[in-house]
Amino acid sequence: MALYVQKFGGTSVGSLERIEAVADRIARGARGGDQIVVVLSAMAGETNRLLQLAHQVSADPDPRELDMLMSTGEQISISLMAMALQKRGLKAQALLGDQAQVLTDARHGKARIKEVATDKLNGLLAQQVIPIVAGFQGRTNEGELTTLGRGGSDTTAVAIAAALKADECQIYTDVDGVYTTDPRVEPKARKMDAITFEEMMELSSLGAKVLQIRSVEYAGRYNVPLRVLSSFAPGEGTLIMYDQVNGNAPLVSGIAFNRDEASLTLVGVPDEASVAAQILTPISDAGIEVDMIVHTTTVAGKADFTFTVHRNDFSQAKSLLAPVAQRLGAQHVKSDNSLCKVSVVGVGMKNHSGVASRMFQTLGQEGINVQLISTSEIKISVAIAEKYLELAVRSLHSAFNLAADE
Ligand code: ASP
Ligand code: MG
Repeated sequence: MALYVQKFGGTSVGSLERIEAVADRIARGARGGDQIVVVLSAMAGETNRLLQLAHQVSADPDPRELDMLMSTGEQISISLMAMALQKRGLKAQALLGDQAQVLTDARHGKARIKEVATDKLNGLLAQQVIPIVAGFQGRTNEGELTTLGRGGSDTTAVAIAAALKADECQIYTDVDGVYTTDPRVEPKARKMDAITFEEMMELSSLGAKVLQIRSVEYAGRYNVPLRVLSSFAPGEGTLIMYDQVNGNAPLVSGIAFNRDEASLTLVGVPDEASVAAQILTPISDAGIEVDMIVHTTTVAGKADFTFTVHRNDFSQAKSLLAPVAQRLGAQHVKSDNSLCKVSVVGVGMKNHSGVASRMFQTLGQEGINVQLISTSEIKISVAIAEKYLELAVRSLHSAFNLAADE
């Protein structure tokens, strides 16, 4: 008998019709002999609605009270689902994070799961009751309610799957799997049958926002096979797991991108080791995340220092840099807030060379100027002008033979 944790996202439970359809699916699985633990998001739009209500009352709502409010969204979907399953003659029980014993730290709004105690869930399963657990929430040792950050239901599902040693954690959503790139940019994008945790981490952090990144991290840490699939259409989805059969990994599995990048360059700063810290400390103190960093020596003793930030942080970063630039005697600060980042990702890169050269040749043939480069073991990212994003993604997708029938 297989044990599955099945998580359904906001659009999958976005209306009573959808709840009935999902209940049919769960009922089929349960009648087929599977043990199922269900984790739900709030109905589509509900979490945003609650957030707006809070901000209408207060510009700066207290994090504890905000969690009290935000955690109500999932209470609606789970209780309706339990009723829908009971109507179908199945035993089901809705559980808040607290009741399901999802224990977290005390960071309201971005809590991390410390432990899921399994006695409650196992007790229900033993009596053939389907637990319907509210995603996105937990409680602290002191009994306070917490939420896990937007998209956190994915992480609830993975944590429960890890604790129960489930055979698979299945994330049902409105897409039928993870694609080689965003099909809205490249219609020839292909759904992948399988992908590794490492690759998925790179793809989700780079903008293929199918899963909350923390859930992928968690699944990797506890080795929980994770499957992304559609609650609207049939299909096997995409399985995310540890290494594919060695040697068979494609060189490049997917192409990710981020639209909203900006770069800042301090031109003509002293070529000294301490300069990087002097430039980046005020930026990180302000909570701004720095992505790519390039340091190039120019004339003797001088260097240019470039880094990228999200476009939302661009003007703040720019004003933080002005005094630093002056102190370091920089000639000037160059900036560009119309960049994007395109990355090719693949575990196959670990053992093969030639990906970088093929990438640069392809972009060169299209006349796309690469402004910054960064690499990891399984990824090469370039910053280019945003107007070239679609062209770059499509030409790389074809250069690495990622399309369905190539
Ligand atoms: N309802 C929460 C959100 O909208 C959590 C989730 O859906 O995963 O972010
Ligand atoms: Mg989600």
